[in-house]
Amino acid sequence: MHPHIPTNIPTRIIPVVFLLAGALSATAQEKPEQTELWTPVPPAVSTSGAQGVPSDAIILFDGTDLSAWRGERGGEPGWVVKDGVVTVGAGGGIVTRRGFGDCQLHLEWRSPAPPKGDGQNRGNSGVYLQRRYEVQILDSHQNSTYVNGQAGAIYKQHPPLVNASRPPGEWQVYDIIFRAPRFAPDGGLRSPAVMTVLHNGVLIQNHAELAGPTAWKGRPPYEAHPLEQPLLLQNHGAPVSFRNIWIRPLPAQAPRPAPAGIGAP
Ligand code: MG
Repeated sequence: MHPHIPTNIPTRIIPVVFLLAGALSATAQEKPEQTELWTPVPPAVSTSGAQGVPSDAIILFDGTDLSAWRGERGGEPGWVVKDGVVTVGAGGGIVTRRGFGDCQLHLEWRSPAPPKGDGQNRGNSGVYLQRRYEVQILDSHQNSTYVNGQAGAIYKQHPPLVNASRPPGEWQVYDIIFRAPRFAPDGGLRSPAVMTVLHNGVLIQNHAELAGPTAWKGRPPYEAHPLEQPLLLQNHGAPVSFRNIWIRPLPAQAPRPAPAGIGAP
């Protein structure tokens, strides 16, 4: 037994006492400034413009024209713009002229009213990130279908966490945060596509990892593709309408350096 330690303290708590004293003295030497970051300063983004579009967003459709889009099979889009709204029309789907990698996407859509058809045939469309990864658009208000094919599903992979659908004829909102898959030089998958989705402000996909491209049949594996790929809106034969579509390309997040004076844990 150590001569300075009273003999009436049970020996098993002695190491705890020394540990506590050490931790307290380390905290006393730290200064709050040591954990403050002052640069880089996050850029200011205003949301006070028309329709609340963030000032750094790329507007894909503001109600006037489809100049950011072309037809899925080439040429001009065959969809109809009227009264600030674009509605699924002739010539397949529409794809953006430019590609996107990691991004935040906002779009508003409306199912036809009164509804026609049932299941997958009621107000079907879809938003395909990178032309491959579909978030289902469907009239899922009182309309039963397979759950990994209802509105907000990552098609045939992840059902939505809840059904936040509004009745047909009402505008609905998707906010999608997408991380593009990464591929190794030999074409192998380095990291899968990941999606977080809010439907009418309600979280329905929480950092969901995709197993590959979404498909009607089977489970196709990933195939390597360039980081930036166009967005596609699906023509599934139903006159679904869209408005207020914007996208914010996101930088690949690099790990932040530790502030000076703070060592790695
Ligand atoms: Mg669809």
